[in-house]
Amino acid sequence: MLLNGKIAAQSLQKKLKATLDLRLEKGLRAPHLVAILLGNDGASATYVQAKMKACQEIGFKSTVLHLPENTSQAELLAHIHALNADAQTDGILVQLPLPKHIVEKQVILAIDPKKDVDGFHPENLGRAVIHLPTFLPATPKGILELLSFYQIDVQGKHCVVVGRSHIVGTPISILLTRNDKIGNCTVTLTHSHTQNLETHTRMADLLIVAIGKPNFITADMIKPGAVVIDVGLTRIADERKKSGYSLVGDVDFEGAKKICSAITPVPFGVGPMTIYSLLHNTFLAYEKAQDDLTEKGALEEPSVFF
Ligand code: NAP
Repeated sequence: MLLNGKIAAQSLQKKLKATLDLRLEKGLRAPHLVAILLGNDGASATYVQAKMKACQEIGFKSTVLHLPENTSQAELLAHIHALNADAQTDGILVQLPLPKHIVEKQVILAIDPKKDVDGFHPENLGRAVIHLPTFLPATPKGILELLSFYQIDVQGKHCVVVGRSHIVGTPISILLTRNDKIGNCTVTLTHSHTQNLETHTRMADLLIVAIGKPNFITADMIKPGAVVIDVGLTRIADERKKSGYSLVGDVDFEGAKKICSAITPVPFGVGPMTIYSLLHNTFLAYEKAQDDLTEKGALEEPSVFF
């Protein structure tokens, strides 16, 4: 089965739009997502564009704060603080990676957790760990939504995650161990120091790969019948393409599709689900902001995420 993230995201976005339209009919303002983009990295600009396009399609207001490459840490933090204080801004995302002179961790900590729609702030990650309502990090949340959309039963299964980044590998490994419908897995989290990686991947009923190395996972590393989620997204020069590049995943799709039971394509697998999750988190942030305005303090917790 092809786990088509484009189809799943379109269907979920349609439902979200219907919910939003009810709010707009009541005269409420639209949710507002602000993306901060530093410098001129082509891939980052493309990802931000895709996020903004999705906002427009669903009826969200979106703003890109495009800052020069040499923006200082202090200037960037000042922009974030201003957005934290702005009642018309529901969600803030800072597109990663950042230029080398910026301390990424400080940037993540500066975003108000109530507007942290990427779900990277430790307060939100901590809440996710102990299963409190929160903004789940967008890509792991998108993976959960995709598994749910295609009714993949993961409970009790052995999941192997390859890559332990703070934005994908580590959070998805935690989320899949939680006592939840899309959870209750036994998880092995692997990284570049893991010995005999293939002995682990071959035991996976659910294999999630997020390392950024094109076609790294080959068919011989996959258990027959496994479900494979390929998060990897690398631009490879391709003269045949108008853009001049192709997007390639971490899994050798052609080989893997012959042995697994289900697999995500690249592109149009995890990518659109990440964007949907960002929209959903922004909507949750907006609802909380609206509640604050109408019934001040009525909601102690952010809305349920999933
Ligand atoms: P990252 O920060 O680039 O880190 C890569 C991870 O892979 C690290 O944990 C590293 O281990 C591990 N790794 C590298 N080589 C390995 C090997 N040979 N065996 C096992 N593990 C290895 O990760 P990321 O930010 O999660 O990005 C990973 C990929 O996913 C990239 O291609 C990125 O573009 C893509 N991505 C896609 C989306 C989407 O929406 N589709 C979202 C986010 C990321 P160490 O920790 O030991 O160094």
